[in-house]
Amino acid sequence: MKDKITAAIDERRQDLIALTVDLIRFPTINPPGEAYTPCAEYIGKRLGAAGFEVEYVRGEGTPGDSDRYPRTNVVARYEGKGPGPTIHFNSHIDVVEAGEGWTMDPFEGVVKDDRVYGRGACDMKGGLAASIIAAEAYIAANPDFHGAIEVSGTVDEESGGYGGVAYLAGKGYFSRPRVDHVIIPEPLNKDRICLGHRGVWWAEIETEGSIAHGAMPFLGDSAIRHMGAFLAELEKELFPALDRKQTRMPVVPEGARRSTLNLNSVHGGQTEDFQPGLPSPNVADSCRLIIDRRFLLEEDISEVKEEVVSILERLKRDRPNFRYAMRDLMEVLPLMTDKDAPVPTAIADAIREVFGKDPEFVISPGTYDQKHISRLGHLHDCVAYGPGILDLAHRPDEWVGIEDMMESAKVMAMSIDALLKQPRK
Ligand SMILES: [Zn+2]
Repeated sequence: MKDKITAAIDERRQDLIALTVDLIRFPTINPPGEAYTPCAEYIGKRLGAAGFEVEYVRGEGTPGDSDRYPRTNVVARYEGKGPGPTIHFNSHIDVVEAGEGWTMDPFEGVVKDDRVYGRGACDMKGGLAASIIAAEAYIAANPDFHGAIEVSGTVDEESGGYGGVAYLAGKGYFSRPRVDHVIIPEPLNKDRICLGHRGVWWAEIETEGSIAHGAMPFLGDSAIRHMGAFLAELEKELFPALDRKQTRMPVVPEGARRSTLNLNSVHGGQTEDFQPGLPSPNVADSCRLIIDRRFLLEEDISEVKEEVVSILERLKRDRPNFRYAMRDLMEVLPLMTDKDAPVPTAIADAIREVFGKDPEFVISPGTYDQKHISRLGHLHDCVAYGPGILDLAHRPDEWVGIEDMMESAKVMAMSIDALLKQPRK
């Protein structure tokens, strides 16, 4: 079977390249959610022709969904010749904006030196193409298989996945008995298996002051100075404390193998959009800060919040007129699939077969759609595995290696074989 699978994928090399180029040519930029429907329909037509049953599911009423920018997802299912488990490949079709610094058209799909270039080549149209080729090659090599294979192309991963995987998971698309195993072909490198991600807490903190003439600031109370006092406490106390929190999670890059905090944005006082003219002089009566805290399996989210709240409360006690408000914006718990679960085991065996070496098990510093499959779908046999170098994602001249996609497709197809042969638990 391994030789048959390898041969079936080798035959499809040109097809894989052409498919990747075609996918890159849909400028599925998010935001706003451009070209989702034609891209989903392209995938649906291709898989429909290969014998899959195809469904389009619009994320009605989710953030950004409108008639101009419908959140169109595609889910395709190929039923085998008898009952058995279902393995699902989920890829997001959205990409981030191209940005500056490209030396070529980011939506042309330039093929050069064993690479395909373009926005989304690595993150993650190359992975999507590899999974489609893996599924088609597996079916051709083993037409009498039992169980089912699903491939989906979903939207909005880059903006939280609410109109994509979260919407589908809420409707049962990522739950048993429909699905048993999920592979997300995100670009984590062809010989690595990503078991999950760190947790996330985003919050908005606002300090309050009172407005006065800028020439007599002593008559008012500056919200920006209050925020400055809070930031000084973070520097003195919280940042060093977070650096000391190490984790057993194998996060890559290694710098993220601890707790981190980013200050996403800070704004106080009047808007700077005063053109034409100059702003009037005022003491700021409000200052807002957005924080992005990434946390570990070893941490509890209530403690994570308490660390920040205790600093704010202390300032309220000790600093005259310090007033604040805090609002949660997003919470995602950390996630780590057991590396002995069926999906990581099958992929690890296939990596040994294709590359002749052991895989590396890693954890992503940031989250991706696995969170919805776990939390809303209650399906835990899920990992990210796909071709492409993570560091190239979201950058100019993004590319994916053709040989890397070929080898990943072999790993995926061999994993399908191993997983479909296991009895359903
Ligand atoms: Zn991605």
